[in-house]
Amino acid sequence: MNVRTHIEAVYEEVRRRNPGEAEFHQAAAEVLDSLAPALDRHPDYAENGILDRLCEPERQLIFRVPWVDDQGAVRVNRGFRVEFSSALGPYKGGLRFHPSVNLGIVKFLGFEQIFKNALTGMAIGGGKGGADFDPKGRSDGEIMRFCQSFMTELYRHLGEHTDVPAGDIGVGGREIGYLFGQYKRITNRYESGVLTGKPVAWGGSHARTEATGYGAVYFAQEMLATRGDGFDSRRVVVSGSGNVAVYAVEKVHALGGRVVACSDSSGYLVDQDGIDLELLKDVKEVRRARISAYAEAKPTARFTARGTVYDVPCDIALPCATQNELGREDAVALVKNGVRAVAEGANMPCTPEAVAVFREAGVLFGPGKAANAGGVATSALEMQQNAARDTWSFEQTESRLATVMRDVHTQCRATAEAYGDNPDDYVLGANVAGFLRVAEAMTAQGVI
Ligand code: NDP
Repeated sequence: MNVRTHIEAVYEEVRRRNPGEAEFHQAAAEVLDSLAPALDRHPDYAENGILDRLCEPERQLIFRVPWVDDQGAVRVNRGFRVEFSSALGPYKGGLRFHPSVNLGIVKFLGFEQIFKNALTGMAIGGGKGGADFDPKGRSDGEIMRFCQSFMTELYRHLGEHTDVPAGDIGVGGREIGYLFGQYKRITNRYESGVLTGKPVAWGGSHARTEATGYGAVYFAQEMLATRGDGFDSRRVVVSGSGNVAVYAVEKVHALGGRVVACSDSSGYLVDQDGIDLELLKDVKEVRRARISAYAEAKPTARFTARGTVYDVPCDIALPCATQNELGREDAVALVKNGVRAVAEGANMPCTPEAVAVFREAGVLFGPGKAANAGGVATSALEMQQNAARDTWSFEQTESRLATVMRDVHTQCRATAEAYGDNPDDYVLGANVAGFLRVAEAMTAQGVI
């Protein structure tokens, strides 16, 4: 069978076997579209059914999560863990708590995670999980009871050598703490390496909280440097105002850029003076308030409930909120306003149509599986510290993160050049480089 026919057949099977899972179809198509040159050079991959096996998770768990709210009412949510690939190491990927979570979203995230984790060069497989639980407006007690119930089912599938979750949307240090406490209680083991994203005081890694946002900025910096450009004096727009967004803002400012806008799901905020990071952290991390509270506290800022953050003119855009948040029209607006580079801090925030607009306009585009790999890479560093019962300094850990991001960038460009004709094609580079590492391991480990 010719390579393109084989790829199309695999994609058709993904659609047939996973009906209604639009985000998973999208993520699979995005990777499969890049792989023809790799399969051309490695005919044994098709013979070994590498793609067919990669597109089917090794294990998918769906479970009931019952809990009691502050009024004493019983609530029921649905929990998920998709253990996608253990070719390179224990399943590794975050947990997302958001009302939109369903099996298709968890699968898209788990599939992306396989290639992202491979790109880091570390010994981590791919997985993802979460629940359709909405943490917004819930008390600490409710969050704790939910996390305890979630872990009471999930613990049996986890282990430092088996499956190691971390945070994602709606899951930060507080939730990881409750999840870890319940795992420890049930198993009677202080197994630090079973979860990453722990607070530094009891087994977490310095720089893990900052890693995804910092890493995305490092990646953008590397892309810009190929054109003799950088962040200095550049106007930057960041979407979202959660974990990834806040630390992207912090690093942009450290590099001399000015973030003039950010957002949350209620609207967006423009502050032409540059986002005041301390105020943003106070609003989002301490008060857990809506972003409009920033504008209420700062007269130079303007909050808009309608429209999109991408209407704000900028040189560099960092989408750090959620999947498919940046569509074709947003991309056209960004290009019209002169954007030079877009790096995805979030997973799959740009639609395929938006990516096509950037490509057509020659805008540097860093796909999430490369640009946001710093988070999981630092999680792997946390696992290393836990295994050695060691703690590295912030500087040491951040320097390892910076090296990983530089290596991911170099790998993407080199692979794009070797398997295509344009080193700026980071999509091709990231997909093929990640795929080759996984395919090699799968071939060596036999048909399993
Ligand atoms: P958080 O929950 O900390 O923050 C998410 C942010 O995105 C919030 O500001 C949220 O606003 C906003 N948001 C969510 N949905 C929308 C929407 N539809 N429109 C506008 N804003 C929205 O999550 P993270 O920062 O951890 O994750 C953000 C992205 O980065 C996700 O795609 C995640 O998968 C990805 N990622 C995260 C990593 C990590 O280490 N945390 C690692 C790699 C990728 P609101 O509060 O109103 O909901």
